[in-house]
Amino acid sequence: MTRTIDSASAIVIGGGMIGCSIALDLLRAGVQTTLFDKGKLLQEASTAAAGMLGAQVEIHHPGAFYELCRFSQSIYKGWTEELEQCSGLSAQYIERGILRIAYNEEDEAELRSRLSWMQDAEWIDSGTIRSLEPGVAYGERGGLHFAKDHQIHPVHTARALEAALRREGCTIHEESPVFGLIEKNGRICGIRTAGEEHYADHIVLASGAWASALTEPFGLSLPIFPVKGQCISVRLPSPIIEHTVFTKGCYVVPKMDGSLLIGATQEEAGYDKKAHVSVIAALYRRAVELLPELAEAELVSTWAGLRPGTRDELPFIGTSSRLPGLIIAAGHYRNGILLAPATGKLIKQIVLGEAPSVDLSAFNPDRVLNLTPAH
Ligand SMILES: Cc1cc2nc3c(=O)[nH]c(=O)nc-3n(C[C@H](O)[C@H](O)[C@H](O)COP(=O)(O)OP(=O)(O)OC[C@H]3O[C@@H](n4cnc5c(N)ncnc54)[C@H](O)[C@@H]3O)c2cc1C
Repeated sequence: MTRTIDSASAIVIGGGMIGCSIALDLLRAGVQTTLFDKGKLLQEASTAAAGMLGAQVEIHHPGAFYELCRFSQSIYKGWTEELEQCSGLSAQYIERGILRIAYNEEDEAELRSRLSWMQDAEWIDSGTIRSLEPGVAYGERGGLHFAKDHQIHPVHTARALEAALRREGCTIHEESPVFGLIEKNGRICGIRTAGEEHYADHIVLASGAWASALTEPFGLSLPIFPVKGQCISVRLPSPIIEHTVFTKGCYVVPKMDGSLLIGATQEEAGYDKKAHVSVIAALYRRAVELLPELAEAELVSTWAGLRPGTRDELPFIGTSSRLPGLIIAAGHYRNGILLAPATGKLIKQIVLGEAPSVDLSAFNPDRVLNLTPAH
């Protein structure tokens, strides 16, 4: 069966935080939007995440990526407020920053070097760390306080986002894997699902760690791959930290419901999403070294998710000369929760032919063409 969608229409492939944010912005701009997911919406990386809005803590160099992260951070609160208004559900946005504790000499040097270019970072000594978070066991080398690196709860934000999308009239196809892109007259103009073809004016690829499977047959090999992250949620009878506490190899994020999220490993293990006892145990030991009171915690749950990693650690946002008609928004790696509002806005601007709010040249998918032999 072939179904044709009217003009000013878009198809978004992938219903993670990125695809859903794009769909919402397109709908609000009057673009008739249809979303396809191979499973249920928001069940992959986007709800496995810690929810840190780490425009400072995650960034190691100045440049375009830092500017993109800061842009998204600057519009985040308003974005969650709109979601909450539209859905009636809380995104659990917490305005409390991150303490990045220096782990060793090398780590301290890297953190100190950021002060020469980073906007919203303040060096704090061990005394200040102790006064802000008395439960932290080591902190004698000091660290950085990122007062603006707030957080949300990914599961709650996802619920609010999905409810807002449904309310705005998004056509949603769950359990509908997209098997291929349709090209006509040199342009991508549609998609294939099981037994169906769907067409729209704009096709947006936002399928996270799976994105390259759909561009590969057209000779565009996007270096996007799964980077597994295992996490633990625990609970204590009373709060032990107020800020997110982050050090090399481990972070602990206090959530609104009183639980503490401990994350996360970084593993290139294909599409395996199993949590492994030995790995979880090592992560937990590391967290207890940082916050000894965690030794008494009750286990709530463990899980793993697949970050859409890229070799240069930059997302792909924009179009490729190899695949006219396709708009790519994938490869957000460790920062897709933070970058969801910016990506939604930027893809909407591309669809409407408007100038993007931030310079997208560093994220242009064509940067991989020298790695991809022409067809
Ligand atoms: C443990 C962990 C901790 C993290 N912590 C943070 C954090 O603190 N802050 C932060 O900003 N980021 C964090 N991230 C990263 C963030 O989760 C990701 O960057 C983000 O979720 C990517 O969103 P996405 O929508 O691109 O991918 P996903 O959420 O994976 O969504 C992709 C969707 O595409 C669908 N799909 C795939 N192929 C197809 C197909 N062929 N047809 C139809 N649908 C398809 C999938 O089913 C899925 O629903 C973390 C990630 C992990 C795993």
